[in-house]
Amino acid sequence: MSRNVKVRGWKDAPTFLAIPTFLAIPALLAALALVACAGPKDIPTPLETVDGDVLTSHDDMMAFLTGLQNETGAFAMDTIGTSVEGRSLVLLDFTGSRLSGAPDGPRLKMLMFAQQHGNEPSGKEAAMALARDIATGRFSAFLESVDFYLIPQVNPDGSEMRQRANAAGSDLNRDHLTLSTPEVAALHSVFKEHMPEVTLDIHEYGPAGSAWVRAGMHKDFGQQIDGLTNPNMSMELRSFVWDRVIPNLRERLAPQEVFLRRYLVSGSPHERFRYSTTALNDGRNSMGIYNSLSFLIEGLNGLTVEEDIRERTRRQLETMKAFALFFSENAAEVKALVDAERARLWGDGASPEVALVADYVKDPAHPGVTVGVINLETGLPESRTFEEYYPVVETTLSVPRPLGYAIPPHLTEVLEVLARHGIALGTVEGSLPAEVETYRIERVEASWKEDKEFLDVGVTVHRRDLVLPQGTVVVWSDQLASNLIAALLEPQSQWGLAQLPEFASLLAVSAEYPILRIVGAAD
Ligand SMILES: [Zn+2]
Repeated sequence: MSRNVKVRGWKDAPTFLAIPTFLAIPALLAALALVACAGPKDIPTPLETVDGDVLTSHDDMMAFLTGLQNETGAFAMDTIGTSVEGRSLVLLDFTGSRLSGAPDGPRLKMLMFAQQHGNEPSGKEAAMALARDIATGRFSAFLESVDFYLIPQVNPDGSEMRQRANAAGSDLNRDHLTLSTPEVAALHSVFKEHMPEVTLDIHEYGPAGSAWVRAGMHKDFGQQIDGLTNPNMSMELRSFVWDRVIPNLRERLAPQEVFLRRYLVSGSPHERFRYSTTALNDGRNSMGIYNSLSFLIEGLNGLTVEEDIRERTRRQLETMKAFALFFSENAAEVKALVDAERARLWGDGASPEVALVADYVKDPAHPGVTVGVINLETGLPESRTFEEYYPVVETTLSVPRPLGYAIPPHLTEVLEVLARHGIALGTVEGSLPAEVETYRIERVEASWKEDKEFLDVGVTVHRRDLVLPQGTVVVWSDQLASNLIAALLEPQSQWGLAQLPEFASLLAVSAEYPILRIVGAAD
């Protein structure tokens, strides 16, 4: 991880606000001057200092956070990387803060990160307010049982341009498989360094997709949340999300007039409604594959990026606080649960099979789903029930978990992806006799899963003894990333590297797949 700036230090008695010299925004200067008179409890966020729907720029966010850090000394602010256009990506580290009165000891680690999508700014605005509320002691009690990390803005370039993608045109929340963008690589460096048991990725969904408008309505689903959806993830954790976390948060948020439901995806009122995706290329599932309790929230965006930003920010902030409180109150239980489920990812406790293909199916007990919409004819909210409801993830293909995989050293792009994930790799010195399974690729066909195209791969498997030559790279399954390793490397994996255009050469038909499964020691 590159950390070229580090502002650390817990000040004892903050008395005045140092104004950074690079601050040149008159409105913000005025606000900060106000702060200097009013005291640290009243530090307004940039959004709180302006009239109307004005989003906070990266410069203003950095000035605000630097000022807040100087004023309160309540957190460390670390630069964890830079965006494509060179903007700083920062991590607010509240661990070790004097705000947490609890004695040292194992605490629940929680990471929140916002605005991977540049046109979804309310999470960043809320993150600034949350940082302020923690740093000024208004909302800090949860730190007694939680080590808290906050990345307020993952995609500053996209934010400046009011666009979903980063400056290079990459959708950051589809980059968590290969970690090829500097923004997502930085985020995962933080994740892998601290391995938080709980993560929260903060987004917004648009109300007015064209198919919805054509059907005469806008989505009005309220505030949405979801947890783990890939079938390789612990069922204990998945049930904990559905049975404990979401009902509890729903109850906490109702008095704040925030209606919470499980995150439903549907491209149009006539298509399938499902609970997001099993893919591993997003922030939630890429962390969940380590049996982290990882979540995303989807607030309701405006008809423009700016519209109603204060109310959108309020709902996100309330949800983030409810989330922090739930996990603070249940910290010991959650930490024990995640520790136990992570221990089952490898070693004797690991599941003998790894799921490779899954899709959403109907549940006869729940034939339809009812959601809120805005009727565009009347302008009024109403409830609609949709029958194309596919709530259950069903695995359709699994393979036995191998001891490991043997990768020829010339597959440098594959090896680089594994290295970026921090996966442990070994290299054969001399030679290694092994019992292996090889795949011959028999067919590759376009198929349809989760309402998008994927490659349906047919193989034949051959088992034999051979000697892995010097320089062969070996990745053993006996590590925390075991499920991720199989999901990335198996040729039939719906979530694998071979599905990506840049790795298409791995799937040459009538040829041997170059990555081998190690299933035993050779006789
Ligand atoms: Zn998003």
